[in-house]
Amino acid sequence: MTSYKELGLVNTREMFKKAVAGGYAIPAFNFNTMEQMQAIVQAAVETKSPVIMQVSKGARNYANGTILRYMAQGAVEYAKELGCPEPQIALHLDHGDSFEICKECIDNGFSSVMFDGSHLPYEENIAITKQVVEYAHKYDVTVEAELGVLAGVEDEVSAAESHYTKPEEVIDFSTRSGCDSLAISIGTSHGAYKFTPEQCTRDPKTGKLVPPPLAFDILHQIEEKLPGFPIVLHGSSSVPQDEVDTINAYGGKLPDAVGIPEEQLREASKSAVCKINIDSDSRLAMTAAIRKYLAENPSHFDPRQYLKPARENMKKMYIHKIVNVLGSNDKL
Ligand SMILES: [Zn+2]
Repeated sequence: MTSYKELGLVNTREMFKKAVAGGYAIPAFNFNTMEQMQAIVQAAVETKSPVIMQVSKGARNYANGTILRYMAQGAVEYAKELGCPEPQIALHLDHGDSFEICKECIDNGFSSVMFDGSHLPYEENIAITKQVVEYAHKYDVTVEAELGVLAGVEDEVSAAESHYTKPEEVIDFSTRSGCDSLAISIGTSHGAYKFTPEQCTRDPKTGKLVPPPLAFDILHQIEEKLPGFPIVLHGSSSVPQDEVDTINAYGGKLPDAVGIPEEQLREASKSAVCKINIDSDSRLAMTAAIRKYLAENPSHFDPRQYLKPARENMKKMYIHKIVNVLGSNDKL
């Protein structure tokens, strides 16, 4: 058993309390590689932001869960070395799909876990979430649950259609399960293709797709029922069109990739939404920089040469999200 406290990590309880009270949101960035980890830590330290580093099933399959845990431990030490004496970094399991995987992560130094039972029957979702909460709270680990189903594909999480969270179920679910935060479905979606062209309108000037707006009415109803309770948004990449354009200009093929407009995420950050998950934007920033570098430098083959601009581009994106979208800067 390794407690996250020995590693210098923190759980999400205080982070969320302050974020809800302060009208901002904590960034939750997925990571699989050393360059992503370095970019996340550099961005968080430079902006003085708390940050959640999260690990999905795909990340564990790709990089190995043990390695990622040690990288998170390294992230804390790296932040200190960069001049941040008390970094606020949580290591979070994204979309845990069983009690067993949540327990394994808690036993191995994670400070926060998600149990995603959103695809299960309601009572079963409550029962397993409660089981995870009872185990996690013994070790002061926080638990995120999910109610309502998101559309789209993120690693192995998929759902053909979105089912918005029912506000009337939220009090019952959170009270009976004891979860610390709740991911809700109000129209965000996983991946870089969040909406089909048929679901969008097209901007006549730019020809770009404009996605349907988020269901803020549902969010406000939930806030009224459970004032101050931490709400989480998954699938909240914006799919920046400049990165998509760079990818397409240098041999990529991402037609009609579309995300959540940043103005809407900015508005959500000011509400009870206190954690916003961003994964695809980091993938796009990395791929755009690598494609451009390799196209412009065809004779180079040292991975450090193209991973360096990739890391810089991810860092720039993380800083932009922290400062201009979530508002979590200057909170350490
Ligand atoms: Zn998700």
